[in-house]
Amino acid sequence: MNRVRCLVFNAALGPLDYRVPDNMTVEYGSIVVAPLGPRQIIGIVWEEERLPTDPVPENKLRPILEVLPVPPLRPELRRLIEWTANYYCAPLTSVARMVISSGGALRGPATITEYRLSGGLPERMTPKREQAMGALEGEQATIRELAELADVSDGVLRGLVNQGVLEPVVVDCDRPYPRADDAHATVELNEQQTAVARQLAEAVQSRKFAPYLLDGVTGSGKTETYFEPMAAALRMGRQVLVLLPEIALTEAFLRRFEDRFGAPPIVWHSSLKSTERRRAWRAIASGQAQVVVGARSALFLPYANLGLIVVDEAHEISFKQDEGVRYNARDVAVMRARFEKIPVVLASATPALESLQMAESGIYERLDLPSRYGGAQLPEIRIVNLTEEPPERGRWLAPSLTRELFVRLERGEQSLLFLNRRGYAPLTLCRNCGFRFQCTNCSAWLVEHRFSKRLACHHCGHEEKPPLNCPECGEPECLVACGPGVERIADEVAEILPDARVAVATSDTLNTPEKAAEFVAQAEAKAIDVIVGTQLVTKGFHFPELTLVGVVDADLGLEGGDLRAAERTYQQVAQVAGRAGRGAKPGTVLIQTRHPEAPVIEALAAGDRDAFYDAETEARRHAGAPPFGRWAAIIVSSEDETEAREAARAIGGTAPHLQDIAILGPAPAPMALLRGRYRYRLLVNARRSAQVQDVIRDWLAKLDLPRTVRVSIDIDPYSFV
Ligand SMILES: [Zn+2]
Ligand SMILES: [Zn+2]
Repeated sequence: MNRVRCLVFNAALGPLDYRVPDNMTVEYGSIVVAPLGPRQIIGIVWEEERLPTDPVPENKLRPILEVLPVPPLRPELRRLIEWTANYYCAPLTSVARMVISSGGALRGPATITEYRLSGGLPERMTPKREQAMGALEGEQATIRELAELADVSDGVLRGLVNQGVLEPVVVDCDRPYPRADDAHATVELNEQQTAVARQLAEAVQSRKFAPYLLDGVTGSGKTETYFEPMAAALRMGRQVLVLLPEIALTEAFLRRFEDRFGAPPIVWHSSLKSTERRRAWRAIASGQAQVVVGARSALFLPYANLGLIVVDEAHEISFKQDEGVRYNARDVAVMRARFEKIPVVLASATPALESLQMAESGIYERLDLPSRYGGAQLPEIRIVNLTEEPPERGRWLAPSLTRELFVRLERGEQSLLFLNRRGYAPLTLCRNCGFRFQCTNCSAWLVEHRFSKRLACHHCGHEEKPPLNCPECGEPECLVACGPGVERIADEVAEILPDARVAVATSDTLNTPEKAAEFVAQAEAKAIDVIVGTQLVTKGFHFPELTLVGVVDADLGLEGGDLRAAERTYQQVAQVAGRAGRGAKPGTVLIQTRHPEAPVIEALAAGDRDAFYDAETEARRHAGAPPFGRWAAIIVSSEDETEAREAARAIGGTAPHLQDIAILGPAPAPMALLRGRYRYRLLVNARRSAQVQDVIRDWLAKLDLPRTVRVSIDIDPYSFV
């Protein structure tokens, strides 16, 4: 090739053509450095015909400067980038950026100087130095990372380097990872598991696209069944990707994986240090990485030789990304498997209706694990009707639930209380004048967090100190907390059971893998009697001594009224109920509700999953909702309220009139103000067969909106705020 077309990393530019100097070899997928005016830009060499643009005349072509020392992106991955951009109406460069997610990795082999404590002491101890030395015990990282870790300035640490308290260590950035050994240990499987494991292992060996829905009740041992297909992939020298919905869950998975394979898998998530990110990226691209466990972003990494994808807890909504490229990792995982011609396993105890429908229509093959591992029984489920049996005034737990908690404490067993609300109280108001604390950037109440003594917005991260006097009427000590969050439930438990050891498990308290690991270790060591947690504790955890689950407010999820409210409630409650009685002792689940007659509550009480899914399927079919129809959201936002409204009207005014597509709105979004931007929303509801993306693209392309207006398209949206 003596001239090439490049996809360049600049959102404002289209593809650009370049000349290839005589002494340089490039191929499709090569990552290159090219000139752009006086600057340089990174680009990916792409097939010309797939990236149409006006060609640059031969005499105006500028030469490529450098081919970066990483393997070219394989055609399978380039097709995935194109598919994702097209399906989710996102710019190609934005999708490609998710592939090139480590800038450092592109620069080839390198070493880096990290620092660690040498054991020496400084000539003069200062409070800052003491703080740093306390925090850095056992750590090794760059100065900047250590400074962040210890919450001191770089200068403090450089002072410690000069005094020899911190010593330099030269580290090879690409040192290889320990090898996983497919024969390290065996896991005892029951008959059902063996059949599923064997079928999946054969699928890996046959090197064909094959999507599976692994539908297994909670506690059925799904994880162990895909260890065997993983081992099959490793024996073939191929890579495995396991997608998990939360970082907090990786810890439990890592240990089981290490027990089986003798080495930990490679972990990929957004809070990796830049050196870890680079090392993982390069190992994945070179093929040295064998098994990668990660959050949804791991899906777009440049695997050299992928042989199997597993999406664990595939129904989880955290697989849907709600900013930037708004993709659903569960669905893109299936597409990646298709391009790579490999099997993909979507595993869940409460599959999404969309996935069940795909299995029903024969597109996915369904694999069932209908009973629990080791003879454990599914828990007994009881409904607590809060209208008939109200909690005491100012409390949230009904007498029958508190009685059960008491019994568990007496027996030395564990309990879990589930409430999907972080913080102490969802609303704070003034007793005197009724003033409510609202976020200044969002249409949302501030949530009181007593542990951190803050009022916080859960949408933009804004935080403030609770004032002593009401900001409206000036009355002192007049603020009252309304409604419960997990912290308030934990207080209530401490009042009822003063001897119980209570732990709050939320994304506030378990915000690093280390903290999650510590929580798991404590729960396993029976150092916790009662866990109070949000959706974070609904899945993945396996505590044999946990025999009681209390759902504090089963109606909470039904209030929002969005499309998937009933399904999500069913999934959350069924998942959290699945934490009870996983060992030898039977489990009990108490579900507090004011609506015992709601179909989803009745189905949960009866343990009749099929009845729930049947009713929900009919409701969706009737509403033309997924999987029977399609939705897309168009969100128009601006810092200026009038501008946002006018832009939304302009879009609404030019809406196409088509038979198979209905357009609703514009209307102010439920979150009418978010992070300082005013928001309007249009909803597109289409028949399944409609070309929604093309219609939206053509429609919006005709409009000329101010640059300060942002228009985001959300295909198959999960969030309707
Ligand atoms: Zn007031
Ligand atoms: Zn906010």
